[in-house]
Amino acid sequence: MTQHRSIHLFRKGLRLHDNPSLVGVLESSEFVYPVFILDRAFMEGAMRIGVLRWRFILQSLEDLHHRLQALGSRLYVVQGPCLGVLRRLVAQWGVTQLSLDTEVEPHYLQQDQEIQALAGELSLTLRTAVAHTLYDVRRIVRANGGQPPLTYKKFLKVLSGLGEPSQPARDITAEDFQKCRPPLEEKGRCGVPSLEDEGRYGVPSLEDEGRYGLPSLEELGLHTEHQVLWPGGETQALQRLHTHMESQGWVNNFSRPRTIPNSLLPSTTGLSPYLALGCLSARTFYHRLSKIHAQSKNHSLPPGSLQGQTLWREFFYTIASATPNFSLMEGNPICLQIDWDQRKDLLHKWTMGQTGFPWIDAIMTQLRQEGWIHHLARHAVACFLTRGDLWINWEEGLKVFEDELLDADYSINAGNWMWLSASAFYHQLPRIFCPVRFGRRTDPTGEYLRKYLPVLKDFPSKYIYEPWKAPEEVQLQAGCVIGKDYPLPVVDHKEASQKNLEMMTQVHNQQESTARLTRDVVDDPMKMRLERNDTVEDEDGTPPTKQRRPDREQRAAPGREADTDDDSRDTE
Ligand code: FAD
Ligand code: MG
Repeated sequence: MTQHRSIHLFRKGLRLHDNPSLVGVLESSEFVYPVFILDRAFMEGAMRIGVLRWRFILQSLEDLHHRLQALGSRLYVVQGPCLGVLRRLVAQWGVTQLSLDTEVEPHYLQQDQEIQALAGELSLTLRTAVAHTLYDVRRIVRANGGQPPLTYKKFLKVLSGLGEPSQPARDITAEDFQKCRPPLEEKGRCGVPSLEDEGRYGVPSLEDEGRYGLPSLEELGLHTEHQVLWPGGETQALQRLHTHMESQGWVNNFSRPRTIPNSLLPSTTGLSPYLALGCLSARTFYHRLSKIHAQSKNHSLPPGSLQGQTLWREFFYTIASATPNFSLMEGNPICLQIDWDQRKDLLHKWTMGQTGFPWIDAIMTQLRQEGWIHHLARHAVACFLTRGDLWINWEEGLKVFEDELLDADYSINAGNWMWLSASAFYHQLPRIFCPVRFGRRTDPTGEYLRKYLPVLKDFPSKYIYEPWKAPEEVQLQAGCVIGKDYPLPVVDHKEASQKNLEMMTQVHNQQESTARLTRDVVDDPMKMRLERNDTVEDEDGTPPTKQRRPDREQRAAPGREADTDDDSRDTE
């Protein structure tokens, strides 16, 4: 077998476990350079990255570097434009093979094409593997006749024909790197590039080892005082996975609709930042869950189970990979075209946690300070911004989430925003979350609100979710006058949500053929008849609409089971 001189290029997938392309490159090379190219223009052009996520990325790279060092290697971090840097490193190190993970988002597809062209030009062997998702999502699309399955139910049906996701790749050892150690001492191959090189490739030269080091947050011109609650990196990811997997009962009983959005510590796994950057392999997670389920007589099932959550991830990755403009409204064939209001002032208040609804404002504050909020908390603020109260385009909310979330993810973020704004996937229109009752149900005394909105901390529980209703003396006693120390509500929820429901119903009726794309067709005519008579109303006193009650999967928002999703029946 040819013994290559190789670069393994990390993009996402910042890990050593379940890293099939790295295994492959170690098995076929005389030496391997693990490289991360910090191409800031590319990274920030692809998606917004706020300071918390930059910090998380840098921590993850540092952890990767240390893990590689422990195996006798290191991470070579180089700043600059990806293609220019690669071209220079290939020349400098005499590289013959390049390996990297296959990614499916549009910005990576574009980069892949450029890398392929470069490999062709420089006669490099290109080695790729799918490592970020459970399956090769292109295979799922093929198995569904070339189109992505657009409902979770259909998606699960397609998966059932594909069998289980493949097992994680074998662990990488010090021996692997031992035999692939680059000849650092050899001049010429790894030495300093000439000025001529520098000019030719348009990137700074690597004068010394120090140049391969990781920049600090400050060196990137960024700064934050917010506490680190989610340290980046594979080491943390595996520790957190391990801790959760030790609670086998918790894993087996996990049903996301029953988890609590306003607990002071996450009630779900909190693994999303690690999965998003690939510090944790989704396959490793999935198969660990399978093992635990195999040992139990009874366990929860998708969509609410933990495996169900990993499948929601896969679902959105699959659709996003085959849908143009997935993160936009216009030009996105599955997304309803809605004439949203342009209200910069309201958008700003929502972003800054100044809507006057403590439940919404506390969530947005947690998001800005910590970079993570619970799934149902995401439901609350996303519904409020869009179809519930403010009638603002979901793309605006998506951008704020991209900026603030540690787990910001092109496919999952856009898929869920379309869901929550009822622009696709979700059709149970009258179920609008109430920004007062939703949070109160699981935290009646408002501990979560007191933590994130200290201005309200002395309000009596009775009023804390709607402080504008508190008598003046109560406000004075709490040291917080509403309208002065904390804002009045920006909308009348009842009025706004009624009006928005009418508009949204009209949109769905007018664009029925688009709406239908992401709605399950009821295949059983008998069931269909029954469901037609079962109009959507009551529960919360919302006026009946002509809509049919869709079947179970549709009634369930992402990750919820239809029979237990009472949080969403919260219209006032
Ligand atoms: P757990 O419940 O422990 O689930 C385990 C894993 O399953 C998660 O880490 C995640 O990778 C996956 N998962 C869970 N729920 C979903 C879902 N609904 N869709 C797809 N995958 C899911 N998640 C992101 O990872 N990145 C995002 O940018 C993102 N944006 C969102 C935007 C909105 C408006 C909403 C409503 C949800 C969004 N989610 C996003 C999905 C979900 O809220 C988070 O994945 C989850 O809350 C992360 O917490 P966890 O790891 O504790 O989840
Ligand atoms: Mg259930």
